[in-house]
Amino acid sequence: MSNLSDKQLLRELRLRLEERKKLENEVKELSRDFQDVTKKLKESESLKSHFISNISNEIVNPFTSILGLSKAILSVEKNDWKKVVSMVALIHSEAFNLDFQLRNIFVAAKIEAGEVAPNISKVNLRSLIQNVIDSFNIVSRKMNIDIDLQYNIEYGFGKNFYFKTDSEKLKLVLSNLINNALKYSYKESKVILKVWMDDDILHLSVQDFGTGISDKNQKIIFERFKRLDSGINSINRGHGLGLSITKALLDVLEGSIEIKSQKGEGSTFSVALPEAKHIVDGFSGEGNDIFFDEGDEIF
Ligand code: ADP
Repeated sequence: MSNLSDKQLLRELRLRLEERKKLENEVKELSRDFQDVTKKLKESESLKSHFISNISNEIVNPFTSILGLSKAILSVEKNDWKKVVSMVALIHSEAFNLDFQLRNIFVAAKIEAGEVAPNISKVNLRSLIQNVIDSFNIVSRKMNIDIDLQYNIEYGFGKNFYFKTDSEKLKLVLSNLINNALKYSYKESKVILKVWMDDDILHLSVQDFGTGISDKNQKIIFERFKRLDSGINSINRGHGLGLSITKALLDVLEGSIEIKSQKGEGSTFSVALPEAKHIVDGFSGEGNDIFFDEGDEIF
């Protein structure tokens, strides 16, 4: 063999060795990725099974209370009617929580099945927002928390403003944010809901002065089934579904959500929602009278 071919051989060998090293590194990287995915899968499986074992209790317990309380009401003597009022208040609170959780669970199931096509209609924003706030009246009164609505849209049809969006999804987004703001606030506090428009983008921000969320935890709260162990949180019901649903619904509507929070000071969740471009042929009579685009699935 000539010198030249020896050199060539050596170069070839070096090249092949380098190639092999590269491949080995790629295999190592892939196996690391694989381990990460397996770990995440295991985590998600364990969160899921924890969720399922919790959920049955949290559905069964309120039902048991509702059944027990309503049975007790039936046997209250006529002159003891005052007792009935507090019993009915308890029934309402149990039923309200149950209703809220069930709605989230059903929507989560639809999201998982990919059945969340938007149903766009012209929505009367002012009345939608007011209705959502009103639905929390009893809860906010019980905690002595004032929900301060700062509605800064003054054009449109009189004082109303019709906005093309999916009213049911918007209601659920807002309900989850207000529900959390109340749930993680201290008694005798305040929740501020600001609403304004910027070009064709609707902005909503929900601010509370409650527990707040650390920087680290802000990154994980939008994941499914994630719940943090804050003081107030632990005595409240919740499955860590609300924010993941909120995010998924906003994704469907091409909107976004951001959080600003400081531990111990409170949190502000800000939503930006572009107006839908679909051709609409109707108004949402705030849930009663929704018109759908042809081909849209009913949410
Ligand atoms: P949950 O049903 O547990 O409230 P969410 O998905 O709505 O589920 O929220 C996930 C977690 O994010 C909650 O468990 C809570 O720890 C935290 N969180 C959400 N909103 C707030 C808030 N306004 N203030 C403080 N913590 C919050």
